[in-house]
Amino acid sequence: MVDRVLVTLDGTVRNPDAPLLFADDIGVLRGDGVFETVLVRDGTVCALEFHLARLRRSAQALDLPEPELGRWRNAVEQAAQEWGAEREGMMRLVLTRGREPATDNPRSAVTSGELSDTVPVPTSYVLVSGVSERVAKARAEGISVVTLARGISIDLAQAAPWQLLGAKTLSYATNMAALRFAARMGAQDVIFTSTENRVLEGPRSTVVIARDKQLITPPAKNGVLPGVTQRALFAEAERAGYDCKYEPLFTADLLTCDSIWMLSSVTLAARVNSLDGLRMSAPDNAEEIVELVDRGIERAGAIGDW
Ligand SMILES: *Cc1c(COP(=O)(O)O)cnc(C)c1O
Repeated sequence: MVDRVLVTLDGTVRNPDAPLLFADDIGVLRGDGVFETVLVRDGTVCALEFHLARLRRSAQALDLPEPELGRWRNAVEQAAQEWGAEREGMMRLVLTRGREPATDNPRSAVTSGELSDTVPVPTSYVLVSGVSERVAKARAEGISVVTLARGISIDLAQAAPWQLLGAKTLSYATNMAALRFAARMGAQDVIFTSTENRVLEGPRSTVVIARDKQLITPPAKNGVLPGVTQRALFAEAERAGYDCKYEPLFTADLLTCDSIWMLSSVTLAARVNSLDGLRMSAPDNAEEIVELVDRGIERAGAIGDW
């Protein structure tokens, strides 16, 4: 059984232990690129069309060339097939600006081998690896979370589009640093807050709170990434009679709600079992919410059916 699968956008299955990137790839030099992380379950790629749509929007936000979605679909299918259906996989779609244009530099050949004089050829590949133990534990037991200041206003997304707040970019060093900071405080994850004490998101997940039969998440215009998993939950929960809303949340709302959920494509639903050291016990509908996320993601496979 393979432990990783690597497929480039030309549909070539590559040896994941062989070098792929050039030293002057702008994705490496500047973190200038975008990505998606997708769950592979039972051999199928969950909610693929929604991830491709966001990859396209992220690329637009960075003025990257329009991703050729047909080629991405083929590479993704190829990678999923190679991975197989026996176990879950974490699939990453990576798209960087490509090699730095130098005067006498042959342009990137990773993806297409095409040469161009002025515009770099984007680096594009699909990488599948196993789902970490952390994920199984987060799903089963929930996670401990600390709130950390993100140092930005909820108005920033609109005032400063170059901050790329709605794009899933490769510039995640800050997000990873926040997770390490949390780990030093004994916590497993982070909820970022704005300068106005509004709830933003996790470094790699969307925050949703549950209150009775209500589910609430901060709106994208507050500077959070629109989450595929959150959207899948909302679509499914509405069918089940939940009232699902996009509303600004204060940190105080985190303390008065029934449960807090960190949603993301690979972990799916992780319930916050402790917030800033305060224990949060599971509400009666915890299992129902987990099932709604599972079913929502399954339905999202039926392309564009929302
Ligand atoms: C990926 C990510 C999410 C979660 O999105 P999904 O589409 O559910 O995986 C939320 N916030 C940030 C910052 C992310 O990078």
